[in-house]
Amino acid sequence: MTTASWTLRCSACDTEAAFERASLCTACGQPLFARYQSVPAGTPLAPRWDMWRYAPFMPLLGGEVPVSLGEGLTPLIESTSLAAAVGVRKLFIKDEAQNPTGSFKARGMSAAVTRAKAAGVPGIVVPTAGNAGAALAAYAAAAGLKVRVYAPRTTPRPILDTIEAFGAELIRIDGHIGDAGKLTLAYAAETGYFAISTLREPYRVEGMKTMGFELAEQFGWRVPDVVVYPTGGGEGTVGIWKALQELAAGGWLSGGRVQPQYVVAQAAGCAPIARAFDAGADKAEPWVDPITYASGLRVPSPLGDRLVLRILRETDGVAATASEEAIREWTYRLACATGIDAAPEDGCALAVLRDAVAAGRVRADAEVVVFNTGSGASYRA
Ligand SMILES: *Cc1c(COP(=O)(O)O)cnc(C)c1O
Repeated sequence: MTTASWTLRCSACDTEAAFERASLCTACGQPLFARYQSVPAGTPLAPRWDMWRYAPFMPLLGGEVPVSLGEGLTPLIESTSLAAAVGVRKLFIKDEAQNPTGSFKARGMSAAVTRAKAAGVPGIVVPTAGNAGAALAAYAAAAGLKVRVYAPRTTPRPILDTIEAFGAELIRIDGHIGDAGKLTLAYAAETGYFAISTLREPYRVEGMKTMGFELAEQFGWRVPDVVVYPTGGGEGTVGIWKALQELAAGGWLSGGRVQPQYVVAQAAGCAPIARAFDAGADKAEPWVDPITYASGLRVPSPLGDRLVLRILRETDGVAATASEEAIREWTYRLACATGIDAAPEDGCALAVLRDAVAAGRVRADAEVVVFNTGSGASYRA
């Protein structure tokens, strides 16, 4: 008999769900969250050097060994020249490019594949704008599971090549990640494969959460003033916020701040959350004809819309957009100023931050962390 210190509950209506093969809440259709007994400050973390260091906060059953490739524990790199360029007191880049397959998607897949493997699924299927498919291909290989990936034909070539390099079955589609999502669900229904789409599956976000634990720990168990996240489906943003809630519940945080001000950066060519935020709405309408070179942001109907909009309201947040031109300019500036292999998503984050500071929506005396969610190498064909 295994025991668990957690349950699975709806993020909106709190209805409880079974652990394995879980999807959306059967009562209201919103994402499910793992809920834990609070982990008191000072509880020993796990003696290992990857994101599973935070095992007391993670959805594991007693004695279980996670499917891991050394994800997480990424560096926080300060740049005084970028701080000056965008006009803030301090600026740090959390470099998620240094994960297996080059993006923070590794964290989510490590957690989700761990639970899918435990559930004994025959295979896994995923829709992706690119990096999630590459990460899943690697973690499924590590777990010995079969995988099918649906990705837009326009996904950067190095990412598509990575998916195939790990032996995944890649289906290139005409359309965007929303179209890929429909094909994924149909294939899952037909084959019994488990669909592991953003926030439709509850454990990817648990992996993303470890970015929040690391952030707090890297600041000495304190929360910086502002977090800038290039947001597509919303999993990264929601994960960080959830981690900080859990740390606060256990009394881990000093300095008074529980949540930073969140800045959600989107591309002007696909900005459903920024548009909903401007309209004061509590959910986003689908974006017609999503177009951006920052492929991780090409998510026209994010399932995390309600959660992200709530986080923005609760933290006096900002959601705004950058043009393709500004994305290119700031990606180049980020790489040249720091030596970090910046992805276009992060050029977007910096451009949005610069505008938010100029408009007085982010304070000039703030200490800011910008997430470099992916690797520039993945975009160089
Ligand atoms: C997936 C992705 C994003 C968007 O993250 P969400 O969690 O879907 O909001 C941003 N940047 C890169 C490089 C990505 O792969």
